[in-house]
Amino acid sequence: MINERVITKLDNKEAIWNSIKDKKISIIGYGNQGRSQALNMRDNGLNVIIGNREDNYKKQAKDDGFSVYSISDAVKISDIVFFLIPDEIQPEIYKKELANNLKKGATLVFASGFNYFYGYVKPDNVNILLIAPRMIGWGIRDKFKKQEGFPVLIAVEKNVTGNAEDILKALTYAIGALGKGGCAITSSSREETLIDLLSEHTWVGSMLYMFRAYYEVATEFGASPEAVILELYASGELAEIADSMKDIGLFKQLRTHSHTSQYGQLTTGPEFVTNETKELIRQKAMEILNGKFAREWMNEQQTGMIVYNKLHELAAEHPMEKEEEKLYKILGRIK
Ligand code: NDP
Repeated sequence: MINERVITKLDNKEAIWNSIKDKKISIIGYGNQGRSQALNMRDNGLNVIIGNREDNYKKQAKDDGFSVYSISDAVKISDIVFFLIPDEIQPEIYKKELANNLKKGATLVFASGFNYFYGYVKPDNVNILLIAPRMIGWGIRDKFKKQEGFPVLIAVEKNVTGNAEDILKALTYAIGALGKGGCAITSSSREETLIDLLSEHTWVGSMLYMFRAYYEVATEFGASPEAVILELYASGELAEIADSMKDIGLFKQLRTHSHTSQYGQLTTGPEFVTNETKELIRQKAMEILNGKFAREWMNEQQTGMIVYNKLHELAAEHPMEKEEEKLYKILGRIK
């Protein structure tokens, strides 16, 4: 067990680095995360190869100067395997290309807790690590070039070689997370899955539908669609508020708004978040932890994504979508 909850630097670097410096590392999936993590590790002097199916990503990896193999061939010759294809595809690809090819005593790295926590991918005889960046792929590369780090949740889920913790810390450093301002939080697949899905199932999703409701009411009371869309998100003010939360703090950033705005937010905000809301959040947390949501989502994928496609269609039919498109054309954001 790692003792520190928050790690900002690699102590005892030389000894820890020895756990990976001569290892062959493969990145399976040269996509958003895969490309950035591969480039960062190679720049840190590591031996990185790519496993990808035949497609444009494969061409990109070759253009970037990597040796590229089929997924199964890359896994066969690697000591450390980063599994960086989309979560919903991992179980099938694991069965077909990884299960029989992972070397005994190799290390398998996930960037998301989902498949390991729910047992959709559960290998034996290998170390299992979680290195889950809180950063989009291009940000990981961009920050690395500026010698800046980024937050990442890390865990040793299985330690068959006895030195999985050293490998975890070394790889966390190698992908660039511990650059200036970055940190690794000691976590688990359970925690990573809970907090990731719980965000999506509570405040992120409800924000989209809250915006819709606001649009409907404001236009009903005579506001123009353009003004409303700009007010809600198109002006970029929302992104600036989010940036201030990151830099100053959730409630401390309130002080940068007008007094009228502060008073209004503090008095009306709590009206929308009642005990019933909190109970609903609790229910969503339980549905994540007991696997109800995961089973529903797996079933949805196996039965042709009918609900998923229907909900996208419904969302696209809302009048706000057309108004947004008109506005974004005028503003030159889309053609
Ligand atoms: P991408 O969608 O960018 O992954 C694309 C890669 O997966 C490509 O190489 C793609 O090749 C390959 N791939 C897709 N489908 C298949 C398939 N059927 N068979 C073989 N290869 C396939 O993934 P991300 O980088 O977004 O996500 C990777 C992991 O990182 C996930 O576990 C995700 O949860 C995690 N993560 C992602 C973050 C992000 O910002 N995106 C942030 C933190 C974690 P092809 O061109 O053939 O489709």
